[in-house]
Amino acid sequence: MRNYTHLLLDIEGTIVLDKLYAPVPGAVEWFNSLAPRGVRARLVTNNTTESPDDLYEILVSKGFVFEKSDYFTCLTEAVVRMRRRKIKSCYAMAAPAVKDYLRRQGIEPVENSSAQSILVGYDPTLTYEKMNMAVSAIIENGAVLFTLHRNRRFVNEKREIAMSAGPIAAALEHATLTRAVVCGKPERRFFLDAIKGWDVPEGEILMVSDDPFADLVGAKRLGMATCWVLTGSQRDPKAAEKIAVKHRPNYIFNSVVDIPA
Ligand SMILES: [Mg+2]
Repeated sequence: MRNYTHLLLDIEGTIVLDKLYAPVPGAVEWFNSLAPRGVRARLVTNNTTESPDDLYEILVSKGFVFEKSDYFTCLTEAVVRMRRRKIKSCYAMAAPAVKDYLRRQGIEPVENSSAQSILVGYDPTLTYEKMNMAVSAIIENGAVLFTLHRNRRFVNEKREIAMSAGPIAAALEHATLTRAVVCGKPERRFFLDAIKGWDVPEGEILMVSDDPFADLVGAKRLGMATCWVLTGSQRDPKAAEKIAVKHRPNYIFNSVVDIPA
């Protein structure tokens, strides 16, 4: 494997093991050794259970050293996308921490159909009434529908299979005949915003993730090199055979610490 000077790194399953954010063994030392060796690294995550500020603090408390400007979540991207459209209010179908974050970023969280935007995230208290409020905001008030990502399922903190934001966004799209703006990975726009300011061709960038299907296929479509690590949700290297040859990961390693960056 050649050396890459620019890395995009997924967080969960890649540098930390799970929702308790325990680092992958050796990952803190490996990550912190990148900058002194002249390797640029940015973190990219679809995490929707913490606010970006909280997750940043958690990672720093685990020992990872990085600037907030090298850190992109689907929620930081949602704020960027809302600002570009001059949106000032949002009905967020998401955890209270997400609403607090929006408020701090100047986007007022509202709990009625007058919102200028709807944001689909992870809301374990979701009801039929809330869904109807979102539909009414879109149909009657022209609210713009955003979703943090289109993931179908995830394993929740009780280790149960749980429905993710994707099916909720799909239901709202179907009910309103609209298309949601997708904020996180593997959207092309998300990756382009994450590599902004890096003055290198996409082929010089290595995207590293435990998800060879969504994350790595999305990065590869943009021309990046991709590396699958087997520390997360997908651990059987044979799974790569289900992916079209041109979209398969360039490299497979047991752990990020094995990447000779
Ligand atoms: Mg992951």
